[in-house]
Amino acid sequence: MESARSTSEAASLKGTGVVAGIAYAPAVWVRPRPDLPEAGRTIAEDAHDSEFGRFTAAADTVAGRLSARAETVEGAAAEVLTATVGMVNDRGWRRGVKKNIGFGHPAEYATVAATQKFIDMFEAAGGVMAERTTDLRDIRDRVIAELRGEEEPGLPDIEGEAVLFADDLSPADTATLDTSHVVGLVTELGGPTSHTAIIARQLNLPCIVAAGKKIRQITAGEVVLVDGARGTVTRNADEASSRAALAEFRERAAVIAQWRGPAQTTDGHRVQLLANVADGNAARLAAEAQVEGVGLYRTELSFLSTSAEPTVEEQAAVYRKVLEAFPDSKVVIRTLDAGSDKPIAYATLSEEENPALGVRGLRLARENEGLMTRQLDAIALAAEGRSEDAPTWVMAPMVATEQEAEWFAGLCRDRGLTPGAMVEVPAAALMSDQLMPHLDFVSIGTNDLTQYTMAADRLSPQLAYLTDPWQPAVLRLVQETCRVGALTSTPVGVCGEAAADPLLACVLTGLGVSSLSAAATAVAGVGAQLAEVDLASCQRAAEEVLGAAGPDEAREVARRVLLS
Ligand code: PEP
Ligand code: MG
Repeated sequence: MESARSTSEAASLKGTGVVAGIAYAPAVWVRPRPDLPEAGRTIAEDAHDSEFGRFTAAADTVAGRLSARAETVEGAAAEVLTATVGMVNDRGWRRGVKKNIGFGHPAEYATVAATQKFIDMFEAAGGVMAERTTDLRDIRDRVIAELRGEEEPGLPDIEGEAVLFADDLSPADTATLDTSHVVGLVTELGGPTSHTAIIARQLNLPCIVAAGKKIRQITAGEVVLVDGARGTVTRNADEASSRAALAEFRERAAVIAQWRGPAQTTDGHRVQLLANVADGNAARLAAEAQVEGVGLYRTELSFLSTSAEPTVEEQAAVYRKVLEAFPDSKVVIRTLDAGSDKPIAYATLSEEENPALGVRGLRLARENEGLMTRQLDAIALAAEGRSEDAPTWVMAPMVATEQEAEWFAGLCRDRGLTPGAMVEVPAAALMSDQLMPHLDFVSIGTNDLTQYTMAADRLSPQLAYLTDPWQPAVLRLVQETCRVGALTSTPVGVCGEAAADPLLACVLTGLGVSSLSAAATAVAGVGAQLAEVDLASCQRAAEEVLGAAGPDEAREVARRVLLS
């Protein structure tokens, strides 16, 4: 049994590392969620109004507290908090609570029941909507604690440094983490695309998600070693070597902070480092980082809560905001990748058995060609007047066949746009020689390429060991794409999360990838790593990882070749 193990023996628990880095500090747990009330007690009819008044006061207090916190932060953190305040103030939700009180339920249970209705609805929608149920549970718990006069659940007061443990952090808590105290994050649940992961990346905080129930063995105050690159939490780690690893990490962080682009290897091989953005705001933030442009603008993220298709002019205004943040640099715009985990009300089909394998991305245009042509018209309109030094490239998601590539390229060229395709379906990688002659560039989406190559849902915490871009099977498809890219002089970029991993970035460079696009905060780490290796070592590492038995061995091989 686990608990029978000698307490002095070092033991590592494994999760999915989403932000590289070392933390060595005592564990703290977020304050527990309140026990949820059951249906039962009823309140008299003449007390319904005052009961709803009690709920309103509690909800207003919670909203006020979150708004105050939103004012102390900026960027994505402020956006997350403001969105959470929006949920507490949501009229539909408050009406639901009022209705339940009208049935005689006390405010606490009325809140639980009203929230559950929304949770069920969001879960049925799946994907990104399902991930938002964490926000709903969070506001429910805060309001219930407030109604009972209990302490607000969530972040504890932390003295000194600590590694924060939680089942899953609420967006509101993640957004206000104080990095002078919290030096690492470990969650039982969550995935690489969860709020926790996104904010941890923005804060550059070593972070592991999907670590599983086993982390519950870790008690508050126990000193742990977190390695965000390996995805491990080590208990009873040797103190001297842990402190040495921490010192090395901090030294590295200082080197990264000093790094200035453009990126190149020690022997002058240039690699273009670009930013992934979701909207104009993100683009403006990215423009402050050491990036040479935008490598992936996920247009669908600008329309997640838009119910009717925006007109060409409305779309152009949205795209222009991103282009204006980079007036003198390349911007790669991806056409709508609606469907699967990113349902867009006006584009996505509602009933599909298996949406990740369904009508998503470019496939939506088969039934609705206008969706694609209107978007391309809008992109062309937004790009009007840009200088030649600031090219606007356009790529389609989920391209799988030559016909799709040819069709899309034709539509782009008709509008004077530079056409490309995501390589994220294994078929596209395997058929690169047929696709590339139609295209001016390709960009490998390692997130989906990994999901489809390994037949493993990218959002599943249980399958995180398969959805690892270091899987040699995925890297072999990257190799094939680069081989054909070199033969046909087609630039090959990578814009999946793999591009944010400094060591993997070197391997991708060795395979022949010429641009890497990642979260703007990850770019300096990649650039600093590339600045310490030469192209021949990248190529040697690339050759060796292709023969590795699995992702862990691939990482070890790359470390040996590139870092020793
Ligand atoms: C990918 O699949 O790697 C990618 C970049 O696209 P998305 O994550 O938006 O599916
Ligand atoms: Mg994708």
